[in-house]
Amino acid sequence: PESNAPAPPSLATGLLAGQRRALARAITLIESTRADHRQEAEALLAEVLPQTGRSVRLGISGVPGVGKSSFIETFGAALIAQGHKVAVLAIDPSSRRTGGSILGDKTRMEGLARDPRAFIRPSPTGGSLGGVARRTRESMLACEAAGFDVVIVETVGVGQSETAVADMVDLFLLLLLPSGGDELQGIKKGVVEIADLVVVNKADGDMAEAAARAAAEYQSALRMLRPVTQAWQVPVLRCSALTGTGVPEVWEAIGRYCDAIGEDGLAERRAAQAKAWLWSEIDDTLLARFRNHPAVAEALPAAERAVMAGEITPGLAAERLLQAFGIAPEES
Ligand code: GDP
Repeated sequence: PESNAPAPPSLATGLLAGQRRALARAITLIESTRADHRQEAEALLAEVLPQTGRSVRLGISGVPGVGKSSFIETFGAALIAQGHKVAVLAIDPSSRRTGGSILGDKTRMEGLARDPRAFIRPSPTGGSLGGVARRTRESMLACEAAGFDVVIVETVGVGQSETAVADMVDLFLLLLLPSGGDELQGIKKGVVEIADLVVVNKADGDMAEAAARAAAEYQSALRMLRPVTQAWQVPVLRCSALTGTGVPEVWEAIGRYCDAIGEDGLAERRAAQAKAWLWSEIDDTLLARFRNHPAVAEALPAAERAVMAGEITPGLAAERLLQAFGIAPEES
């Protein structure tokens, strides 16, 4: 009978023992929007927090087709062969629209997915980018608690999610195709500020020469766009996820990056990320509670109509809604 069954070992115990099943369950809890699940997830993370933070956190981005999953598969296998444990999480803001996610396709990273030293988790579906980012951050902590010492967060090459990923990792790696032109434009549009490492993939066969050309172009573009005064000059590497050529060099470059910014630099980056995370939690939570507050929810449609009709200023309408929420106007 059920009542005589031994109590299930706590999820934290399984997680800290490195059980992949416990990790999968922990992430399911983290991704749940149910209030009791949220509380359980928070309690779990609080319990394992001292065992987190001991991984290299990598962000990997690039347009669909650039070879992200092929690269992670080859790269991950190489790391595992060196004795690492590799977790792969995904952020895909488009997963809501397409109904699938970038890691949802079971054929992606098949080899890695089968290996007990790897853990692959598709992007949580639904919710705002902010919500997805928060869950991914928490999932990253769970992976670390389970002993994964390399955590890769993959995202598709669309601006906002790239920034979200760069804000949660130690190093942001941008994969590019062996073609210049358009992509060079893309590099100017903001990615340059967040990429710590640029890798031209598909540097093999017929594309080897184009890849070399593209890498040189990107390198000079980066030199112009990014000040040399920083501790780290963003290198442009070439690799083939298909043949594995150049892939070990990517890991070496990551090591050089970690050396260059040092333990203090890394701690500083993570501290700044944690602070920004705190504020996005406050922003998200406050806004959600405000919108869901019964008095606010009731007054909101009329307030919006009145503002749109020009009957009341947005400032005054906002002030009234905040009053309905329970926030008194500031004393003058
Ligand atoms: P993703 O959409 O960025 O995850 O890209 P995929 O990993 O699914 O790769 C897209 C296509 O490019 C697939 O057909 C791969 O086989 C191919 N591909 C990936 N990496 C390489 C590479 O290094 N060289 C060559 N020639 N093809 C590659």
